[in-house]
Amino acid sequence: MVSVPCPSCGRSLHFRKATQAGARLTCPGCGTRLEVLATTPMELDWAFDGPIQDQVEPLPEALDELDVDDGLAKSQA
Ligand SMILES: [Zn+2]
Repeated sequence: MVSVPCPSCGRSLHFRKATQAGARLTCPGCGTRLEVLATTPMELDWAFDGPIQDQVEPLPEALDELDVDDGLAKSQA
């Protein structure tokens, strides 16, 4: 997983490593339309108007915590 700060609001956005250059996304923090410019390293920039080739969704931040949450501290439903 790759984390890149939104160029607009600075929020950390998480992507699968398979994300490809040219993919478009919308920042969940500020709603800005972004485009993946490069993947090694990951670079984001504001998306320009044009046909959407490959819309991707940033991964929810909660995924970051999966590795450290074994259910021991989970609140009861
Ligand atoms: Zn943002």
